[in-house]
Amino acid sequence: MIGGGASGLMAAFSAAKTISESSSEASVTVLEKMPRPGRKIMITGKGRCNFTNYKEWESFSPHIRSKASAVRPAFFNLPPSKVIEFFEGQGVPTVVERGDRAFPQSHMASDIVDALVRASTSLGVKIHPGVQVGKVSFDPEGDVFNLDAGDRVFSCRRLIIATGGLSYPSTGSSGDGYSFAASLGHSISPLFPSLTAIVPKGYKIHGADGTGLRGHIDRSIPVSAAGRQLMGISLKNSGLALFLDGNEVHRVMGDLDFTDGGLEGPLGFQVSRECVKGLVNGRKAAVSIDLKPAVGGDELLGRLRRLWSEIQADPRSAGMHMDRMFRVLLGKVLPHGLIDGFLAWNPGLGKGADLEMLARRLKDWRMEIEGFVGYERAVVTAGGIPTEEIIAKTLESKRQKGLYLCGELLDVDADTGGYNLQCAFSTGFLAGLSAAKSIIGR
Ligand SMILES: Cc1cc2nc3c(=O)[nH]c(=O)nc-3n(C[C@H](O)[C@H](O)[C@H](O)COP(=O)(O)OP(=O)(O)OC[C@H]3O[C@@H](n4cnc5c(N)ncnc54)[C@H](O)[C@@H]3O)c2cc1C
Repeated sequence: MIGGGASGLMAAFSAAKTISESSSEASVTVLEKMPRPGRKIMITGKGRCNFTNYKEWESFSPHIRSKASAVRPAFFNLPPSKVIEFFEGQGVPTVVERGDRAFPQSHMASDIVDALVRASTSLGVKIHPGVQVGKVSFDPEGDVFNLDAGDRVFSCRRLIIATGGLSYPSTGSSGDGYSFAASLGHSISPLFPSLTAIVPKGYKIHGADGTGLRGHIDRSIPVSAAGRQLMGISLKNSGLALFLDGNEVHRVMGDLDFTDGGLEGPLGFQVSRECVKGLVNGRKAAVSIDLKPAVGGDELLGRLRRLWSEIQADPRSAGMHMDRMFRVLLGKVLPHGLIDGFLAWNPGLGKGADLEMLARRLKDWRMEIEGFVGYERAVVTAGGIPTEEIIAKTLESKRQKGLYLCGELLDVDADTGGYNLQCAFSTGFLAGLSAAKSIIGR
């Protein structure tokens, strides 16, 4: 096994369990390049680890953004209920919260890592931390895979690659598995970051030469003065629509955050996949924020007119400048902290108290999107080993016998909410089970 993350540790457990139930003397070894396994799991769910989403397949599968049918057999082998059972059986009590999201009751991701390590090592799995595989080859004469790890070469009859994607490379997932799979005959669907911040035009400081930013905009690039007017603001129950080349492709409702990266939070993440894919394919992207999704445009305009009349009739408005009165109106329809940013990002709005324009902008606050934060802070990698190149029922490669692939390395990515870890656990479990069965001849 290469990779001791979510899918690799689960694969090691299921392989070792299957072998332990037979008379075979086969053994399972995990090579992990980091000093400790499960580094990425430790940062999941802001350290609380939202390890699965407790849904049936029918409501789970729409959250898989790539070809969900390829994950179906793996899901049914180890559905969310069984993942919860697994952790409970390892002495980790769990809780299911809003949106069916499951966490360890302790809210400590380390409990999940410890359980995975304990479950596999108690069945005899050997975990070698600090071992980075650099090259993989298959020797057809000896019918073995050779894994070159610098000063050591490991050989095995069945190989599971569980090296993850490219996001958060500091956790060890730096995309090595794509080249291993490619060297064994696989192709790689275009890779791009998903569940990441998208960057409105003008939100970040542009280069000293004044040229615009486009595509990957590193999170470390400073936020502009205009961006700082919005940074730190969280919008509750807003609408967000994504436009590609002027056509609306996605509309969602929920909470939206302006951060040092750009637009993120649940809504930003939900549109990020399509937005990033569009941008890398040269399409023009824009979003429209609906600050009043619960009311229609006409109703909103009527409400604004009523409020405006009340403000004008209020004795406290006597002698008040029009701009000041307009800000009083904004204070009645917007969170206080958003007024300056909203005016700065909607130039012309403050002049002349144009209520029709205000109603339009509250329902349709347009922002051109010029880029996205890359793998340095993206939650997952979209793209990867095409699922058409593996047998969904076993996760064995169609290109190389004896090779199994699982986890984020595959062209499988999902929404936030525990869906990604569930996919990693399910595919890891099935890969381990199938590899073990094939070696013990079942
Ligand atoms: C900040 C953040 C928060 C997240 N929160 C959640 C969440 O709450 N819920 C959820 O469902 N998903 C979450 N995810 C996504 C989830 O963590 C991943 O989808 C999941 O970890 C993928 O599992 P994996 O086993 O495929 O890869 P990984 O967990 O990335 O494991 C791959 C392992 O392979 C090792 N490796 C790589 N190359 C080599 C090599 N050459 N030699 C040896 N070892 C190697 C790596 O060091 C790593 O340990 C989050 C991701 C991030 C970045």
